[in-house]
Amino acid sequence: MNNSALFGANGTVTLVGAGPGDPELLTLKALKAIQRATVLFVDDLVSDGIVAFAQPHARIVRVGKRGGCKSTPQEFIQKLMVMAAREGETVVRLKGGDPFIFGRGGEEVEHLREAGIKVEVINGITAGLAAVTSLGVPLTHRQHAHGVVFVTGHAKPGDAGTDWRALSTAAHSARLTLVIYMGVSGAGRIQNELLIGLPAHTPVAVIQNASLPTQRHITTTLGRMADTIAQTRMASPSIIVVGDVISAIALAAEHPAAVRSA
Ligand code: SAH
Repeated sequence: MNNSALFGANGTVTLVGAGPGDPELLTLKALKAIQRATVLFVDDLVSDGIVAFAQPHARIVRVGKRGGCKSTPQEFIQKLMVMAAREGETVVRLKGGDPFIFGRGGEEVEHLREAGIKVEVINGITAGLAAVTSLGVPLTHRQHAHGVVFVTGHAKPGDAGTDWRALSTAAHSARLTLVIYMGVSGAGRIQNELLIGLPAHTPVAVIQNASLPTQRHITTTLGRMADTIAQTRMASPSIIVVGDVISAIALAAEHPAAVRSA
């Protein structure tokens, strides 16, 4: 029985979180959805090793902006997904990390539901979590933090963007770790505004290509963040982590066995 028989005339669209890059960090549910798909719309942060799990005859549509191509406009991607679902295809929208952590997954779900398409969403490991764990750092180590904030360094056009001053004050007084997505190109501005509420010696880590063979990272302080990023040429995709939990990296280096067994 094919899927259009299961679901009537319309197929389904499943937004699948592909995780940070390493195919082994996919969930089983995500893997099964990828293997079932007849059409996959794939973001550019999704690695080839993950796309390789699709059936050999599945149609792969790359909708990313890397590799020199202009990004496929969001409205066009949404239109293509609706068309494919209406044709009875089993559509997977493969998105980097978690579909609902930045990356406009929410807008896609709203659009599909408005078009009367059945939508499911499967979590992925978001890059912020994977990046920090790969350093052996517990994001909410209770000696250093009471919580964590996932925040974007890149505002939607026309939007005032993140209030870094307010966030820096809250991070300091409430002891919150900041996990900043899409922040490297605006690092200078972010640093200056965070310094209003946080001390210059606050530890910072920047992790590029988390979970991939090309992963690298640097550690620095908030006062030197933008300079270190420029000197080491850290570039997108990177996660910036600001907070005392990063001092646990030094601990991990001194006591690797203790961290491994923790
Ligand atoms: N939905 C995604 C985030 C999309 S926004 C998720 O949950 O991870 C894109 C940003 O995510 C990038 O600019 C970068 O800040 C971050 N990112 C995605 N993959 C990454 C990786 N492998 N290593 C470091 N940062 C990554």
